[in-house]
This record gives sequence, structure tokens and C-alpha cells, in this order.
Amino acid sequence: MVMARINITDPTGTVVSPGMVLLEGILRDEGHDAQVVTGDLACQGGLFRAAPDAWYLSTVSVRQFLALPAFFDRVGLEVLAAARASTAPLVALGGYPAANPLPILPLVDVVALGDGEATAPALAAALDRGGKAAALEAAEETQGLAATRAAFALARAEGPFGARLIPMARGRAAVEVARGCKRRCAYCAISWLVPYREADQEEVHQVLAASSCRQVNLLASSLSDVSWATALPAMLAATGSRDVGEHVSIRSYLRGGGGAWRSSVATGIDGASERIRRATGKPITDDEVVAAVELARDLGVTRLKLHQLLGMPGETAEDLDAWRGLWARIARVAAESARLQVIMSTHFHLATPHTPLEETAAVRQVPARRCAAACRTHAHAVNKATGRSAVLVLQAKGYGQWRLEQYLMRADETAAELILRRPGEKLIRSQRWEEMVPPTRPRAWGCVDAGVPARMREAALRRYWLEMGGHPPVLGHDAVSP
Ligand code: SF4
Repeated sequence: MVMARINITDPTGTVVSPGMVLLEGILRDEGHDAQVVTGDLACQGGLFRAAPDAWYLSTVSVRQFLALPAFFDRVGLEVLAAARASTAPLVALGGYPAANPLPILPLVDVVALGDGEATAPALAAALDRGGKAAALEAAEETQGLAATRAAFALARAEGPFGARLIPMARGRAAVEVARGCKRRCAYCAISWLVPYREADQEEVHQVLAASSCRQVNLLASSLSDVSWATALPAMLAATGSRDVGEHVSIRSYLRGGGGAWRSSVATGIDGASERIRRATGKPITDDEVVAAVELARDLGVTRLKLHQLLGMPGETAEDLDAWRGLWARIARVAAESARLQVIMSTHFHLATPHTPLEETAAVRQVPARRCAAACRTHAHAVNKATGRSAVLVLQAKGYGQWRLEQYLMRADETAAELILRRPGEKLIRSQRWEEMVPPTRPRAWGCVDAGVPARMREAALRRYWLEMGGHPPVLGHDAVSP
């Protein structure tokens, strides 16, 4: 039997994620001729196999949707799916941005939601059976989102998953230990889109024992929440493996006295103030954050990255003042160390489809931007005073980028017109996208069956506003003028 030839890539060809390598291994185990494409497809440096049976596109950001027309040019495909010949390769796209697939429906054949190791082999098997027509039929039969929309979504397939060694760059490997997250922070797609599941403890042990790779990244959104997490140190010791993943939760970091030694640590603080963190379901205190910075300093960590979420719905000047106060405390600790660098990576809240805060997109982030600018000025002063060039770094994702991502996340089919027009980044960032998707517009993605039941999201939204002082969950109520 001729087995399907499949290229796996992201629309720019520049990212090789553990998920893509995992998919490649699973498809090969089932006899398919799969390969991860590497190299920058946009600048003609990419190496890909011509004339495959399918392109599987993996996405992690809605901005990758904008790269689709150039991708199709590069690989010799018509940009519109409807204009492609029946013999052209199937184009299937997955990843969490596809939870609102409306902006890209005219460009792809299949939007795959759920676990890739279920949907990807199912499509490949259909390709083997009867080519592209059979794959489209299989997709349509599984879930009929698309019969009227020129593309198809496979049903969510979210069963147990097996532990596998995922070979990565620099002689390292990854092993997925848990999928989804049981914390359910109100803004987070990981926990609301994907059900929480864990790999079997014994299977993980066997995978580690059988591998000759000793530097492993144990993949889980919150490793300390894994029900058998206490067994991990002994398992790593018995198999001679070292966990090289840098992401930790603050509380597990403090509880474990730093745990396995890492020179680089990353963690999420998220909301600007304790009040917002309680509301989102991540009640980390300022004292805990400062204690984590002190621990990192004492352990000789060289790089501590703190992810911070600003512009949350209902955020006030008091919340931003609290953040400035926390920043000053962190700065004092970092300045005492001869080697610790603290990077505060700030992101603006994105109202993500299928999360409790999915309809809170109309907030203009001006006060938060001003506050971030003040913190950056403060960081420069601290760096100058200590004589070290980068004791403190404040990274801020651009406002234009936030607006663009928010628009693409919430948009309906009209966004496809924008993508097809191929405007330059500068132009599209300058638009007031939040006004193009007014907060009163019904959720465009409501037709997509993804995420947990709506009543759970609604309960979490009520809890959020209760903690924030009882604001009614009215769309866009907290918009502020620039
Ligand atoms: S933000 Fe982190 S801890 Fe919270 S739900 Fe998402 S993955 Fe879990």
C-alpha cells in the first residue's frame, strides 16, 4: 500500500516544536512517510519535500495566520482552497489558534481541533484509502462544522496519551508528562480548551530508562500538579536523567527550595496585583514572588524570567500601583546579587475564545502601557546604579501586536479578506482592530464545539467579577480612553 507523504511545519517554517516532532514520530510508527520541514519557507531557504499528499500546519499564534498566503506561494499552492485542484495536497491546520478558525476557513481544507495524535493519523489513513477526497469526507463525517464553510473540523479527540521520547535540538529530549492544566486560570486557553490528562507514571519511567539522552524537558503546564509529581526526583535519579526545563510554578519552586538546580528559571506571576491574581485563580502573593527572587539569588541562578499579565478586565490604577511596588521590591533583591538578571516579560491580556474572559476584549491598555514604561525607566536607573548593564530587563509586547492578535482571535470570516490582501505588518498594526470587532458583537466562534461546557466558564466569570469588586460582566465596561 502507498503510504501518505506528509510535510509537517508551521506556516513560516521557522519553528520546530515538540508537538510537531511528536506527530512525526506517531505518523511514522503507523507507516506514513512524515517529515518535519525545517528552514525559513518565507525566505526561500526552506527544505521541504515537493508534492506531498498533505501539509500539516501547526500554529501557536494567530499571527501565523498572516503568513499563510506567502506559505502557499512558496510551496506552489493556490492561496484559496477552493481554487486548488482535486489532486493538490490536503492542507490541515491545527493548534490552539484554530479554536476560532473563521479567519482562515477559505485558505485550508481541514481545521483539526483536539489531540494531533488522533486527528493526524485519522486523516493520513483516509488519504491512504482514497486520497484527498476521502480525507475531506472523513473530516466532514467526524464533525460538520464546515459543510457550509468550505472547510472541515475534525471532532475533538481527547483521550489518554502515551509517554514518548521527543528528540529535540542540542542533544536534548522532551517527554510530555501532562496535557492541559487543572488550575483553570480565567484567561488561559490551555486549561479551558483542553481537558487535563496525565501520562502514566510507569510509562514515563520506562521512556526515561530506555533513552540514552540524559537531558530531558518534562513537559507539563504545571509539573507540581501532576498527581505523581513527588515520584519524579527519584525517577530522574534512577534513570540518570536531568530535568532541563526552565518553567516552574512559584509555589513549587519555593516548596522544593529551588528543586533541581537550574541556571535559568521562568515562571508566571500574571496579574498586576494580588487582587487580580485571586480573581483569575492564581492567588500568588507579592511576598511569594519576592521570596522566589531571593531564592534564585541565593542559589546562584543567572536568569529569572517573570511573566506578567497587564490590562486585565477591571484593572485599576491601584492594581498598577501595586505592580510598581512589587517591581521596586524585586529590583532591590536583584541589585544585591552579582550575577542574577531578572527579566519581567509583560503581556497584555488577550480575550481568548472559549475561556471565561473571552468577551472582555475592548480594553484599551493605555494606563498599563504607561506603567510599564515607568518600570522600564526604573530598570535603566537600577542598571546604571549597579554598574551592570542588565540586572533588570522589562520586556513588553508591542501594543500594535496586541491589537492585531486580539482582532484575529475574535474575528469572523471577514478577517480572511484582510489576510488575503497581504497588508504589511506596520499597516495592520496601526489599525484600531478592537473597534472592528465591537464588544457587542456575538461571539463569532460560538459555532465551534471546543473547550469545557459554557456553564463552567460562566461560573468562573462570575467568580472573577465578584473578586474584582462585583462589576457586572458587561462587555467592554472597563474600556478607557487613550
Ligand atoms: S496560566 Fe499556567 S497555571 Fe494557569 S491555567 Fe494556564 S497553564 Fe495552568
